[in-house]
Amino acid sequence: MNPFDYTRSDSVRSAVDAASVEGARIIAGGTNLVDLMKMKVERPRRLVDITQLPLDTIEETEAGGLRLGALVTNADTAWHPAVEARYPLLSKAILAGASPQLRNKATDGGNLMQRTRCYYFYDADQPCNKREPGSGCPAIGGYNRIHAILGASEHCIATHPSDMCVALAALDAVIHIEGPGGARSLPIADFHRLPGDTPHIDHTLRAGEVVVAIELPPQGFAAHHAYIKVRDRQSYAFALVSVAVGLVIDDGVVTTARVALGGVAHKPWRDRAAEALIEGKAPRDEHFRAAAHAIVRGAKGYGHNDFKITLVPRVVEHALQTAAKGGA
Ligand code: SF4
Repeated sequence: MNPFDYTRSDSVRSAVDAASVEGARIIAGGTNLVDLMKMKVERPRRLVDITQLPLDTIEETEAGGLRLGALVTNADTAWHPAVEARYPLLSKAILAGASPQLRNKATDGGNLMQRTRCYYFYDADQPCNKREPGSGCPAIGGYNRIHAILGASEHCIATHPSDMCVALAALDAVIHIEGPGGARSLPIADFHRLPGDTPHIDHTLRAGEVVVAIELPPQGFAAHHAYIKVRDRQSYAFALVSVAVGLVIDDGVVTTARVALGGVAHKPWRDRAAEALIEGKAPRDEHFRAAAHAIVRGAKGYGHNDFKITLVPRVVEHALQTAAKGGA
C-alpha cells in the first residue's frame, strides 16, 4: 500500500502549485500512470487531477497551424476534421497506437508523458536504472527485443513507446508549458531526453511544470506523408520500428524532408544529416536508400534487437517511397 493524497485543480495556476510538491504526479486520462502505480513502479505522494481544466479544445493559431489542448483525447485529435485534412500523418500515427478504448481516455499531454514499456522497468522485483538509479540494467545482456539501437547508453537501452510523438517529431511540434516560473515553449526535439547517465529522467520538464498544449506548425505534409509501424501483431502492440515521413515536393524536387523514428531510441529519433541527403534532389529511390542507411550508421544492437539495424533502412525507404507517391 502506497498512501498518497489527491487534489483536483480548477485552474492551471492551482495545478502548478499542487504539482510543485516533491513526489507529485499529474493525472489526466491515467492510462499509463494508474498501471504504473498498481505495479508499484510509480509511488506518487500526491496525484494532481487536471481533468477539470479548460484544456480540451483544438484551436487555430495565428501562424496558420493548430493548438491541441493538453486534455484533448487522442481519439478526438485523430478524428478532428482539421487534423484529418491538414495533418493526416498525425491522425494515422495516433490510430496506429493502443486501442479505441485507450484512445478515448488517453490525452495528448499524457501521450507525451508516457513511460517506456521495457519489461524490466515494469517488474518491481528486477533492478532497473530508470526505476531505481544505480541498480543496473538487466536489459543489457538480457532479453532486449524491443530495445533501442540508437542513442542508448550503458545505463539504459529503453525506447519511448509513443506513436503520436513520432509524428509530432516529424511535424516539428512545439510543446507549451506552464510552471512556477511562468509560461515557456519547447520544440518537441528538446522535450524528451536520451538516457545518458540519468535514465530515470524521461523529459526536460521542471518541477511543477504542466504541459498545457501542443502546437502544430502550418506545414502538415498532407500531400506527401507516411506513417509505417512494424510490430509483432497488427493491433494493440507497441512499435518494434515506426517511421513518420513528411515531404514537400515542388516541381520535381524534394524541398523539405522529415523522417522521424519510433521504437529505436529513448526519444522520437530525428537525423537531420540523413534528411539533408534527400533535400534538393528528385524523389528517387537511390536518395531514399542513402538516407535510410545513413540513419543506422551509428546503430548498436544488444542481441535480440539486432534485427532492427536491418529493418530500419527497409522501413524508412518504404515510407519515403510511399510518401513521395502521395501518402498512406
Ligand atoms: Fe531499466 Fe532502461 Fe534497463 Fe529497461 S533498459 S531495465 S528501463 S535501465
